Amino acid sequence: MSDKRRPRAVNRSAGVLRYLDIYRTERLLPYSPADSQLISDLERCLGCGNCLAACPVVGALAEHPYPGPRAVGMSLSRSVPDFWTAGGLAGFCTTCMACQEACPGDVPIYRAVLMLRAKNFEQKVLEGEEPLSGLKQLLLDFFTEGKLAQAARWGAALQGLAYRRTASGEMKARVALPLGPLANRIIPPLAKRSLTDEFAAPVAGLEPDGPRVAVFAGCLYNHAYTDTGRSLVEVLRRHAREVVVPAGQVCCGAPTFSSGDLPTTRRLAVDNARVFADAAGSDGLDFVVTACASCGDSLTREYPGLFRLPEGTAPTAEVVAEAAAVRGFAARVRDIHAFLADEVSFRVPASAPASAPAGPAPMAVTIHDPCHLARGQGLVREVRDLVRAIPGLTLREMAAPGECCGGAGSFSLEHYEVAAAIRQGKVAGIAATGADVVVTGCPSCRMHISDGLEQAGQGRPVRHVVDLLAAAYRAGTGSDAP
Ligand code: SF4
Ligand code: SF4
Repeated sequence: MSDKRRPRAVNRSAGVLRYLDIYRTERLLPYSPADSQLISDLERCLGCGNCLAACPVVGALAEHPYPGPRAVGMSLSRSVPDFWTAGGLAGFCTTCMACQEACPGDVPIYRAVLMLRAKNFEQKVLEGEEPLSGLKQLLLDFFTEGKLAQAARWGAALQGLAYRRTASGEMKARVALPLGPLANRIIPPLAKRSLTDEFAAPVAGLEPDGPRVAVFAGCLYNHAYTDTGRSLVEVLRRHAREVVVPAGQVCCGAPTFSSGDLPTTRRLAVDNARVFADAAGSDGLDFVVTACASCGDSLTREYPGLFRLPEGTAPTAEVVAEAAAVRGFAARVRDIHAFLADEVSFRVPASAPASAPAGPAPMAVTIHDPCHLARGQGLVREVRDLVRAIPGLTLREMAAPGECCGGAGSFSLEHYEVAAAIRQGKVAGIAATGADVVVTGCPSCRMHISDGLEQAGQGRPVRHVVDLLAAAYRAGTGSDAP
């Protein structure tokens, strides 16, 4: 590992002792009971190496130093956990969960990585250090401090000067920009008007007895890929009595959570719970639906555990109320695939899409399963059922559709070369199918895969299944309007 990437701890064993000392002085537990259990679960490792074979980062670059998930576990399961080594290694994880899926001992490496990042963050704050790198903090601020909305408005106005639209609808620099490895990177088209602004008024649904549904847009569908945001509203409208897209909703917190910044994640969770409680008003709210795999995973699987306190800590009444509000909100959240499969009677489209991203059907479609949709939320069959239900579409499965594409949110910006190397197999797999469109339920995957396809001369639209579904519904009514 290069010195640049090594955590700024002075000396590892001294770092561990200092860490323990600080917690003793502060009368805090170094690990919560749940964290201690996690570390003890790592001892179940059989040393089989399955996780190494499954990990997309191991071996992505010949000279890349990541020794893999087993090394993270081994560093932690020493008698005095080698916190700093493990924490430094954990920085290279894409949080794809493939190691956990492949492990015969059910060793919770992925959870250990997340716990380590949170401990590293907490430790650095306690020591008065900047907990994250400057680039990482800048990226997180964009998502969590309301800067993305502002930047998107300016960016949408100016983007056309330096970028042009590709045939598949993404943005490509007119001439290579002085951005190092990111010089030719494909980026999303920024929206002049956010989804929440566009749908400031409630949208009447076609099911008078159906649920009242709110959209959790997520940063990328709210400010960049608003085409998919509009498709989501269109699809929901056909299964609900009313659809609302509440103003004031904020980032789901997935970027801060996976970076170890739990305090900011809790603040975002509380803000979102309040915004959607307000949106419920006197009419109530049956579901909160998202089309973003990472948002859905964060809201449903991580929000409920955000307020777990160390043993012996008495929560204040305010914290108890916030935790209850966040858990109540999380219980209403559904990914769109799960919503259509389990919560409503799905309206099968009668017509093939007349105008879809790759032109009118018939068209061949291949599916990339995002890690946070497939492994995180267990939604694999549901995606295929929807694609097969749309007339005029043929499903051509790629090899290993569930393999991580390397996008992983800000990972592909921080470690672009590693992310691009991970992506090679995915791009080759898509090209081999000859599909006209790639379907994926995650905007971060869309961005990273679109970039890879374009760089390889294999450009084609990468879209959410709701884009194809909405196009089919519109064709059925003879309308091209959203
Ligand atoms: S797959 Fe599981 S049991 Fe095998 S080496 Fe990795 S952590 Fe250990
Ligand atoms: S979660 Fe994915 S990237 Fe991280 S250690 Fe496991 S397999 Fe590797």
